[in-house]
This record gives sequence, structure tokens and C-alpha cells, in this order.
Amino acid sequence: MTLRGGIDLGGTKIQTAVVGEDGKVAGEARHPTPQEGEPSDVATAMAAAMREAAGAAGVETDSLQGVGVGSPGDADEDTGSVSNARNLPGWEGSFPLGETLSDALGTKVRVGNDVQVATEAEFHLGAGKPYQTILGVFWGTGVGGGLILDGKPWLGRGGAGEIGHIVVKKGGARCPCGRRGCMEAYAGRAAMEARARKLIGKGRKSDLFKLMREHGHTRITSGIWAHALDQGDELAIELIDRAVAALGAGVASAVNLLDVEAVIIGGGLGVRFGAPCAQRIAAAMHPHLFNDATPPQVHTAALGDLGGAIGASLLVDGEPADASEPHAAAPASSRSIGPRKEPASSPSG
Ligand SMILES: [Zn+2]
Repeated sequence: MTLRGGIDLGGTKIQTAVVGEDGKVAGEARHPTPQEGEPSDVATAMAAAMREAAGAAGVETDSLQGVGVGSPGDADEDTGSVSNARNLPGWEGSFPLGETLSDALGTKVRVGNDVQVATEAEFHLGAGKPYQTILGVFWGTGVGGGLILDGKPWLGRGGAGEIGHIVVKKGGARCPCGRRGCMEAYAGRAAMEARARKLIGKGRKSDLFKLMREHGHTRITSGIWAHALDQGDELAIELIDRAVAALGAGVASAVNLLDVEAVIIGGGLGVRFGAPCAQRIAAAMHPHLFNDATPPQVHTAALGDLGGAIGASLLVDGEPADASEPHAAAPASSRSIGPRKEPASSPSG
């Protein structure tokens, strides 16, 4: 059986998986992302996590058909270099990530955008399987977006899908990107944490940071947000309500433009809060939908936390895997990345 590796490189964790032709995960590992040092230190940690996943699958990395990487920042699919990954240590410039990992792992490595590969994983193997046109919304530290239009990934000129920076309030809150009023300025985990810190500094009561310390974290993770909500923490409830309202306005605006069949909600917070939260976002979208009689389906990402690593493995060229229910009459993907069958092999209808 042909096995491929996938690495999801995040700001807090490196998730790796070894994936079979059927899209099933044969081994996985999760390591923390180095918070200090330089890109080569991150690459070393990525290689270690990939070796551990391969070990769990009972293989060496050099026997993998290849390894795909979903990376933040500007990932150049042609050269494998990554630049401007600002939530990673010392990564303001460009680093030959693909080449470095290929040397370390003894197999070919392909690098793509983290959010786009996670969207493609949901499209091929997850909640997006019934559809031809989907919008992936990854609600985590920031808010990322990925697009599949008419069966094909839409990358624009390389910068498409930045749904987090749709303006939901002109002149509004300062976004981590430096601009004002972006959806991410209200909904991103990092922005919510900064807002909580500011309000607590002004005298608001909340257990958010106490919970964070008790659980040994240095950031308010998705789990800590969930924990605070369970405890009825008023500030946490208020900030999540504010985030959901922003997501409703921003995602509905994207839907007004693209009229996608489905919106898939993933990311650390999206996966943690699950289906009830996807329905809350759907409800928050509704008043902003122009075609409100025909809203898109809103689903939680079916592949959960592993979607990024599984999607990255699809970057590896090879024989298309056998997705059990391929999108009927799908046009061939613009890139040879995944398990989609060619139209000739799938009956229409
Ligand atoms: Zn922004």
C-alpha cells in the first residue's frame, strides 16, 4: 500500500500523519512548534514529528511516496520555499522548507498553503464531499479561508481566501494584520485574547487567564475558551458572542459574492465548538444573506484536527486514491493533488 506523509505546520503545534490511498490515517504524531530560534529549528521539529508518525505506521520516512506540508505564510508550491510566516520564530524572510525537509526525510516534499490544503481535504474526503463549490473557514488563532469553485481550488494570484480580512466594521477594531475592522479583529483567537487582557486590565472579572495558567498554557487555547464558557464566564461568553456575530457578517458577505453550496467551519475553535457552533454561525449569517431563502449548508470540518495534515498529504503527486463517493461529474482538478477520480471513471448524476 502506498503511503504519503502530511505535515500541518501551525503556530502552536506541528501535526503529522501518514495517510493511505484510501485517505485513512495509518499513524500520526503531534509536537509543539518551537517558539524560539529560526526556521531550521522548526524544520528539525517537523522532521522529528514526521518520523514519529511514520514509526507509528510501521515505516521509515524514505519509503513514503512523498510528504506534503501545509504551511502558514507565503508558501511557493513550485520551489517549496516559505516566506513571511510571521507567527513562526525568525521567519520574516524566505526559507527553503521543502528542500530542507526532503534532505532530512529522504523523500520528495511538496509545500502548500495550510488553509487551502485543509479545505481540499474536506472537499475530497470530509464534509465537502457532496458539493462542487465550498468555502472553508478556519477559525483559530486567525481566521483563514479556502475556496473550491466548481470543483477546482481557487487561489487567485496566490492570495485568495483571506476571509479573515473581510471588513465587518469600517474603522473598527485593530486587526493583527495592522488594518482596522477585519473579521479576524473580532473573531481571531489572538485578537480575542488581547481584548480579554485589555478588558480585565480595566477591571472586568474573568477566570480566562487563571484557567490558562492552571492548565499550564501560555495562551488562551480553544480548550480554555470552551472551559470558560462551560463555567459561565461572562467575559468569555461576551467575546465569543462578538466573534460569532463577526463571523456571521463576514462569512455571509463572502457567500453573497460567491453563492457557495456549503460553508465548512474548521480550525481550532471551530472544531472544538463543533456542530452547535456551526449552527450558531449559520444563524448569525442569516440576516446578512441577500438570498436568504437559499442559505448555504454550514457544516463542521469532518476531519477535525487532522484535516490539515491529511490535506497536506494530498499535495503529493501519485495515483488518485479511491474516494468512495467522488463528486459526481466533477471536472478534473486543476492540480494533480488528490483522490478525485477523472470524470471518465465516475458516472454522471
Ligand atoms: Zn486584518
